[in-house]
Amino acid sequence: MRGPFAPSDFTVPALATRVLFGHGRLASLGAELRDTGLGPALLLCTDSGRDLAHRLAADLPGATVGVFDQARMHVPRQTVEAARTTATALGAEACIAVGGGSAIGLAKALALEADLPYVAVPTTYSGSEMTAVWGVTEDGTKTTGRSERVRPVAVVYDPGLTVSLPVEVSVTSGLNAIAHAAEALYAPDRSPLTDLMAGEAVGVMAEALLGIAADPTDANSRASALYAAWLCGMCLGLTTMSLHHKLCHALGGSLDLPHAPTHAVLLPHTLAFNLAAAPMARSRLTQALRHEDPPTGLWELNQRLGVPASLRELGADEAGLTAVVEQTLAVPYANPRPVDRDALDAILTPALHGGAPATA
Ligand code: NAD
Repeated sequence: MRGPFAPSDFTVPALATRVLFGHGRLASLGAELRDTGLGPALLLCTDSGRDLAHRLAADLPGATVGVFDQARMHVPRQTVEAARTTATALGAEACIAVGGGSAIGLAKALALEADLPYVAVPTTYSGSEMTAVWGVTEDGTKTTGRSERVRPVAVVYDPGLTVSLPVEVSVTSGLNAIAHAAEALYAPDRSPLTDLMAGEAVGVMAEALLGIAADPTDANSRASALYAAWLCGMCLGLTTMSLHHKLCHALGGSLDLPHAPTHAVLLPHTLAFNLAAAPMARSRLTQALRHEDPPTGLWELNQRLGVPASLRELGADEAGLTAVVEQTLAVPYANPRPVDRDALDAILTPALHGGAPATA
């Protein structure tokens, strides 16, 4: 059952980013830099990406000018300024971001503010490389925005680079990616393309994460997860996220809960509420997860993957959730179902205590 959808009524924006995918594809980076005509590039990474970045700098001597290894989560303003100073001092005309959302987030800030185009080499499943969303944190406040200028010129996905990603991070990062695809299925600006990508991504990612949990070095599971992460990133970049992402943003901002595990714990509960008003999304997720009740399917998947069971385990308490409820009710956003205080209570209470999601 495909659900009600008018195929004449959609818009698909231009897809601006060239994508290269495959085992060993990192070897194409040099040719890609030449073909795209980028000038000498500064490699950007976090401390754990340092070895890989230096290896690339050594392999591509004419195309790179050095390594800036201080990329940080949430893109602090000081880091952007330090990277910009390094880029100017070394005569960089472009960047190569090697890493997850932190390295790519820094490249986005430099693309926006210093006009430095970049190639992304993702090593996590965050999907940031496929969106036009940027963010910079200053004095404790993260300012975010959307600009086509922050998209990479090209993305090189090489699944071998993700084998070192610890299982726990892989699993929560993959479930975070599933949340992007799930909310794309009822987004106001979804299209037949995002529906197809989201359905494919959820099924492939769920299988891949079970494979990675069983054997983190399994090449096929790593390739499947990275492929699904690309699709999830596309879904995030092409649609507007709803209640689930708003709640996670409020939980992260107010209670300082960890980003990806919060998505993983909450998703079954927000979907239990939202899918009641989104039959097409329910039908796609039923097929993808091969479970007649998708929220329960995701909740069981969390348990099989050893994800924390509750928001309490992540550091939340009742008092903190009251502030989150107020924040979530204060700003309007697209959602398939109207949200009120009772609805938020029905979502957050089982999530706080680790209970099963409400069933349809
Ligand atoms: P990350 O880039 O911070 O990486 C997490 C940790 O894993 C870091 O310590 C990193 O050094 C390490 N790491 C990365 N790849 C590794 C690998 N292959 N092996 C071993 N260690 C590795 O985390 P992330 O989850 O990729 O990104 C999170 C950030 O991205 C957040 O700031 C989030 O807000 C942002 N984000 C932005 C968008 C967007 O569209 N702008 C989308 C998703 C996430």
